[in-house]
Amino acid sequence: MKTIEEIRADFPILSRKVYNRPLVYFDNGATTQKPLCVLDAVREVYTEYNGNVHRGVHIMSDLTSEAYENAREKVRSFINAGKREEIIFTSGTTGSINSVAFSYGERFVKPGDEIILSTLEHHANIVPWQMMCERKGASIRVIPVNDRGEILLDDFLKLLSPRTRLVAITQVSNALGTIVPVKEITDAAHSAGVPVLVDGAQGIQHDVVDVSSLDCDFYAFSGHKIYGPTGIGVLYGKEKWLTELPPWQGGGDMVDKVTFEKTTYNELPFKFEAGTTNYAGAIGLAKALDYVLGIGMQYIAGREKMLLAYATEKLSEISRLKIYGDSANKIAIISFLIDNVHQYDTGMVLDKLGIAVRTGTHCAQPVMQRFGIDGTVRASMCFYNTTGEIDALCSGIEEVIRMFS
Ligand code: PLP
Repeated sequence: MKTIEEIRADFPILSRKVYNRPLVYFDNGATTQKPLCVLDAVREVYTEYNGNVHRGVHIMSDLTSEAYENAREKVRSFINAGKREEIIFTSGTTGSINSVAFSYGERFVKPGDEIILSTLEHHANIVPWQMMCERKGASIRVIPVNDRGEILLDDFLKLLSPRTRLVAITQVSNALGTIVPVKEITDAAHSAGVPVLVDGAQGIQHDVVDVSSLDCDFYAFSGHKIYGPTGIGVLYGKEKWLTELPPWQGGGDMVDKVTFEKTTYNELPFKFEAGTTNYAGAIGLAKALDYVLGIGMQYIAGREKMLLAYATEKLSEISRLKIYGDSANKIAIISFLIDNVHQYDTGMVLDKLGIAVRTGTHCAQPVMQRFGIDGTVRASMCFYNTTGEIDALCSGIEEVIRMFS
């Protein structure tokens, strides 16, 4: 078991200084930092064996294709999907959700149908469905949340109807940190014969994810939020759906036979991977998954729980500070406002103290509207953060309060 100092040493960027102060990085919800092994894996692709995947007879293409397919297998086992054919590499969560919204909409949605989302959704799990609904004459229904930022399950059950074509729900709110009971939601939706897409952008990196026991129909996540490279993501889809859905893009590698009269498509998963994919990113992502497995997902979940408890206690002691989202079941995200101080001012002062937090609506405007605010300051922590950094955040907030009082 590595010590926290050893873990932090795996991430070169964590030891840099900003404005001559140690960097305190609390914007892990936006993107996570990368361990050296991930950077090395991507560099190795380009220095040792780069060739386009599934294209050539030469050794470079073979080596890259093998590493790419091994990455697919790594993702499959990481989320416990049944088959490697069910793992599609995409550009990220946004790419994955847009793709399903397009193809599922084309194949299954008709005028009058409904898609159920929740108030907690990131814009990436709202706008693609709106675009699809506009095209198909369907509409969106929204599950409300209570004052703690928790989904109201009874209201969800009331929204399910014969018109419901799909439920698309986040696993964890990026704005408040609430962990959503996606298993209960999936079971209830399935009882009504409705498939479920889970937006795992904020779920995949914090605890074990098992799509087989979750039984969701689609699961989307981004590599860069789980210590992997940017520009790579995953769509898991049950084989029965992926077989039925039309491809969302056409191009090289996704075809079987092409004539000007007719094209037949490649088998899964290649049917959904048109053109040259981000294979270096996929290989880097596989290394990131190896890395977190080496640290241990249970260890990560436990350490982040400790950080959340510590940060909640310390921040609650600051009298002019209000925390938004206090579900008993949340990840290590604290969204807050300081009385009479705009969130941008707080963020900018903290930045000058070397503390990186996110400010604004967090691409989740509806949840901000629900709480009647135009944004928050968000400190999103992960396992490489420390209680010392939380103390630095608290001192920084006291400084903000002094400056603006
Ligand atoms: N869904 C949630 C809950 C998110 O937090 C994010 C990003 O913050 C996304 C979707 C979009 O992820 P990406 O920008 O990596 O596609």
